[in-house]
Amino acid sequence: MSPARPTIVPKPEEQEQPWQWSEQRWRGIVDRVRAGKTLRPDMWPDGARCAVALSFDSDHETGELREGGESIGRLSQGQYGNRAGIPRILKLLHKYSIPATFYVPAVSAMLYPDEQRRVVAEGHEIGIHGWIHERNSILPEASERDLQMRSRDALEQVTGQRPVGIRTPSWDFSPHTLAITRDMGLLYDSSLMADDDCYELILDGQPTGVVELPVEWIRDDAVYFNMNRFASLRPYTPPSSVLEIFQREFDSAYAEGGLFQLTMHPHIIGHRSRMMILEELIRHMRAHAGIWFATHADVVHYVKRGN
Ligand SMILES: [Zn+2]
Repeated sequence: MSPARPTIVPKPEEQEQPWQWSEQRWRGIVDRVRAGKTLRPDMWPDGARCAVALSFDSDHETGELREGGESIGRLSQGQYGNRAGIPRILKLLHKYSIPATFYVPAVSAMLYPDEQRRVVAEGHEIGIHGWIHERNSILPEASERDLQMRSRDALEQVTGQRPVGIRTPSWDFSPHTLAITRDMGLLYDSSLMADDDCYELILDGQPTGVVELPVEWIRDDAVYFNMNRFASLRPYTPPSSVLEIFQREFDSAYAEGGLFQLTMHPHIIGHRSRMMILEELIRHMRAHAGIWFATHADVVHYVKRGN
């Protein structure tokens, strides 16, 4: 006699496969967060042709801590971001008088308060980047709300400046993230990818007033350079190829008169062979007439004024 089969009772939401969903259901999912009004100005400040917004996500050790990891080797890779990456980046930005935005998890800010104070003192923006680089989409709503507010307070406590923008850790978005951002009165988010230029975010069909300054994995250093020692993941790209991709993204933004936004990480781009391509990219951009280098907050303030 064969053993009785275990009875698996599917949860109600698992009974329907996506191809069986009603139109109301799939529309509801798609319509939760949408791109609304385009916020692309006819002209950038002082008649500039193209806006350039550079950003650095100062994740440091939180990349390891977020998953509960305690690897001393990986923590040291994170510390490199503070110890070697940030000083090189700040020196380069100072050399070319370029303002940038640094998105900082609260834990990074508490580990390295002097770093954050220096970043702000040198004229850069600091934005919210989660508490310990947690993933929003696996958090209960109450925890996500609490962490997002505490992250803002922690940054304000360290720098004396209240952040006006957020980049969610890993650009991970729960169905509640936008409502929390709106309720906090933040000016903008920089974690979504529906356009190359800024746009207004719509929540359940309603304009939120929150501006999206969009990102893309194409314009992120991590995807080209990251590797994992104990997995087969070796997506290693030569710096020259990454420079070519970034330059092409910039060249097209310039041709269109739009926005060129870039995401980097001090513990990744801060290495010698990679800082060379960042400097080369900056020189390439500066060789063009009419470039407006700005923080993410400055870009958003400008596009929101409706110029
Ligand atoms: Zn990050």
